[in-house]
Amino acid sequence: MEKETKSVGYCFYCNKLFSKQEIGKHLAAHLAGMEKARNESSAVNYCHIEVESDEMFLHLLVKGDAKMKVIDNFLKDIWLECCGHLSAFGHKNFKVSMSHLVEDVMEPRIKIFHDYDFGSTTRVFLKGLKHYQLNEKEKVILLSRNEPLKIPCSICKKEPAAYLCSECFDDDDYSYFCEKCSVLHEKECEAFNDYSQMPVVNSPRMGVCGYEGGRIDLERDGIC
Ligand SMILES: [Zn+2]
Ligand SMILES: [Zn+2]
Ligand SMILES: [Zn+2]
Ligand SMILES: [Zn+2]
Repeated sequence: MEKETKSVGYCFYCNKLFSKQEIGKHLAAHLAGMEKARNESSAVNYCHIEVESDEMFLHLLVKGDAKMKVIDNFLKDIWLECCGHLSAFGHKNFKVSMSHLVEDVMEPRIKIFHDYDFGSTTRVFLKGLKHYQLNEKEKVILLSRNEPLKIPCSICKKEPAAYLCSECFDDDDYSYFCEKCSVLHEKECEAFNDYSQMPVVNSPRMGVCGYEGGRIDLERDGIC
């Protein structure tokens, strides 16, 4: 099994699979069509936002008059929350508070970051895409998310990894083990028995602190 780092995600609207590079444009075509067909009197402003961490991504549609805290909560639910650490948004030139409105911060082409946990920090990047006038109600709609990346077992190199050892490293990255080989690793690594065995999950916080997976969108969380 080759390490498959090519990142792909399904479109929320038509359920077709696209690469990380293509999905943004594809979603924009749906959104532009929906904007054209909108009912003028009840349409409200929505912001299309891409969230990135290396090959992992989320595409969100967020209500313009929602507060940034709504995005913070969503990121914690799907990707980040382990044990109630602090979090903050940031930009190199200005402050982003949790009470700012999404439409005021997430202008097209703006790039900000979000830090979760100021000790073992997980930083992800948010990119503002277009705004649309739409007849939607929800504050956050998940338009796409990368499918779980295929990480091969460090021992047998055949099976997909189910666990990692946060104490042992293979080429600077954690060591990864399939169900079978994790039993072998238990015999040679004391830490693995104690505390360093963690599940492989579809999140940039995989392997950090006590992170064991999200609270929403669980079927794409990648826990085997
Ligand atoms: Zn589509
Ligand atoms: Zn934690
Ligand atoms: Zn294996
Ligand atoms: Zn180990």
